[in-house]
Amino acid sequence: MSIRFLCRVPMKEREMKKTSRWIRILFAATLLAGLASYVFLQHTLADERGVFNYFCEPFTGPWERVMPDGSRIPVEIPGSTEAEPGDDVMIETVIPPELAEYGTLCIRGARQDIRASIDGEEIYYFTTKDTRLLGTSSAALYLMIPIPADAVGKTLTVEYFSNSAYTGHFRSMFYGSQAGILIHVLFRLHGLEIVSGILLMIFSIIILIISTTLRIALKRLPPIFYLALCMFSGSLWILSNSPLQQIVMPNISATADLAFFALMCIAVPLMLYFDELQSGRYHLYYTIYNAISITEIWVTSLLYLFGLAEYTRTYAIMFLTLAIGILLILITIIRDKLKGFSREYAFLAIGYLGLSLCGIYEMTSYIRRDEFFNGAAMGVGFLFLLVMATGQTIRDAIQVEHDRTKARQANKMKAEFLANMSHEIRTPMNAILGINSIILRDTKEPETRENAENIESAGKSLLALVNDILDFSKIESGKITLLPVEYETASLVRDCRNLVSGRAESKGLALEFIVDDSLPVTLKGDVDRVRQIVTNLLTNAVKYTNEGSVTVRFVSDRDDAGDFRLNVSVKDTGIGIKPEDIEKIFGSFQRVDQSRNRSIEGTGLGLSIVHHLTRIMGGDIRVESVPEEGSTFFLSLPQEVVDPTPLRDRKSADTGVKKSVPEESFYAPKASLLVVDDVEMNLKVVTGLLRRSSIRVDTAASGQDCLDMICKEHYDIILLDHMMPEMDGVETFERMKTLPGNLNPDVPVIMLTANALAGSRERYLMAGFTDYLAKPFRYESLVKMLEQYLPPELIEQKPAEE
Ligand code: ADP
Repeated sequence: MSIRFLCRVPMKEREMKKTSRWIRILFAATLLAGLASYVFLQHTLADERGVFNYFCEPFTGPWERVMPDGSRIPVEIPGSTEAEPGDDVMIETVIPPELAEYGTLCIRGARQDIRASIDGEEIYYFTTKDTRLLGTSSAALYLMIPIPADAVGKTLTVEYFSNSAYTGHFRSMFYGSQAGILIHVLFRLHGLEIVSGILLMIFSIIILIISTTLRIALKRLPPIFYLALCMFSGSLWILSNSPLQQIVMPNISATADLAFFALMCIAVPLMLYFDELQSGRYHLYYTIYNAISITEIWVTSLLYLFGLAEYTRTYAIMFLTLAIGILLILITIIRDKLKGFSREYAFLAIGYLGLSLCGIYEMTSYIRRDEFFNGAAMGVGFLFLLVMATGQTIRDAIQVEHDRTKARQANKMKAEFLANMSHEIRTPMNAILGINSIILRDTKEPETRENAENIESAGKSLLALVNDILDFSKIESGKITLLPVEYETASLVRDCRNLVSGRAESKGLALEFIVDDSLPVTLKGDVDRVRQIVTNLLTNAVKYTNEGSVTVRFVSDRDDAGDFRLNVSVKDTGIGIKPEDIEKIFGSFQRVDQSRNRSIEGTGLGLSIVHHLTRIMGGDIRVESVPEEGSTFFLSLPQEVVDPTPLRDRKSADTGVKKSVPEESFYAPKASLLVVDDVEMNLKVVTGLLRRSSIRVDTAASGQDCLDMICKEHYDIILLDHMMPEMDGVETFERMKTLPGNLNPDVPVIMLTANALAGSRERYLMAGFTDYLAKPFRYESLVKMLEQYLPPELIEQKPAEE
């Protein structure tokens, strides 16, 4: 209870740091005091080990070799004497008192059978002749020969029989208690080898399991799998060569054979590993080497299996192959170093250098029949490589994190750049299209009208392109948000139709809209996005159809859960899409069949945006198409039903072509409007567009001007630009709310914005703006906004012009 209570009360950060610092100091002092007293006691108290006998010392003789003719020559142990494979080598010594006292003589055979006798009476015989499956010599073992206590002064004879390259070689001998000899052999002589072998085996198995799991989960095998396989073979070699095998494994002969086999299996996975690290730059050489290496494993093993050549006789080939392998990787690393590629795996290159030095040392010590050839160097070499591989992994992880941060920053900069670009392009576009529409309205000259119409069409194309790029960047950064609103189904249909009817007409295409009259009157969804999707499909249908018709159907549908879906199909009689291209068209920047479409303008972004938007809305889209006959796009979007009354029951439901606002009918002579924008051209556009409506338009060139003016005049509506120097639109709006003497506290304020980037509209509405108007706006949308927010009594019927 009290702990919970403590957890719930957050301590001040400084206090926490202070207390945990004291705890750390206290604990470190306790630990040091404990260790120091332990070291002190070990040095001052008496040795209690007397109860155990761990005695073990080397036994060097003197030994004499008894030659077949009875002559004797002194021999050194460890050491060697001249003998041919197959010779029996007999040595003798007189048993000294210390040997009899401790009772055990330990001899290490080197692929030799060994017989020991005291005064001619056999006391020990070792051979694997009857228990091994393959080969003609016994495995190398530490043999414990019992020496009776009463044998002092008697002659001890040891005979070595072997038909291997080891004939005439004597390894070290020890005497002492059995426990003492065991500890000496396992810990002092072979400790490093056994520990490194076990560690390697554990690590390699862990890495093998993890990388196999990753292979299953991610369908990709990480390269470290090969390194683990190489280390596993290495550990198998080290352990099956070590004295541990004679304690753990039941059949020592088979384990001794395994050592040779494992040795040959080290190289191939190492090559595969480096091949991956070096991105296949030396793939051909590695492949040739691996083919040779695998052939060698088979040939030497089969020769051994059929009794034609023992592994001990083919080791020269094994070593040669290994040496070539070591050299091959070294050469590739040097080449990579010269070309600057080795930076990618610098740690591993160093690790490999360490391993190959250990490998060369190991090989030479084997060839020299070195007493201390025991695999320890190889074990250390592998562990070094493992440490370096871990270092490499950590470095790579840091690099990945670094790259990710950089990419995030770059993405942020890209988003900011797009926001700026959007503003920069839309602001002059607003002026161009606005002034152009004033010319269009005022001019009586046919040539000027035609030019202005061309400007309008090119301007609109440019704007559509900018919008597509912005939408695409929003989708890319996952910043697209939906803003569901209630909307009239009929006006959605009407808007879609208005947006393409002109284009279809100019191409001479029949445009047919078939609307299911059971559709609900009012729906809820992100109508702007629905309109964007449908018009995109419609624009494409018109764009890719040269003759015939475009048919659009709006149908009501229910999904499995009974929820409403708005189904729209767009059918054209155009050029169609080849079956192999159908999958591609929804991808980004994908324009298919370029040979036929070259003359048709497009970026390949439209359908990608449509596809993403549809998915975000939880809908789906598919296409059926026959080349040269036409295409049909099927769209299905879940929408909420607000008013289920079917369209047929609403007389007013008009889905025909109609301008939403008759161009010249807006008339509000008693209304007043304030427009605030730092760009003078934009002020002129608003003033010009509204001239015939007789509405009084006042202009302000900055946020401060606006604040001054609203204290002097009352307005019925205020249009406020967002991006302005010094005080921007949002700040101006915030100040307006608390401004003393403001004569317009409850007047609708519409944000004018060129910032069409992600989340902007939500931000404006949340900031308290009545609505927003995206630049460049058209006359229709401006008037629609005024009609919506001006007090209705101020909007009048326009008197007929003379
Ligand atoms: P674009 O800007 O090129 O029109 P979209 O993403 O809208 O890009 O379309 C991708 C491609 O799909 C187009 O380049 C065109 O080849 C093909 N396509 C789209 N709609 C149609 C259609 N109605 N008829 C034939 N081909 C079409």
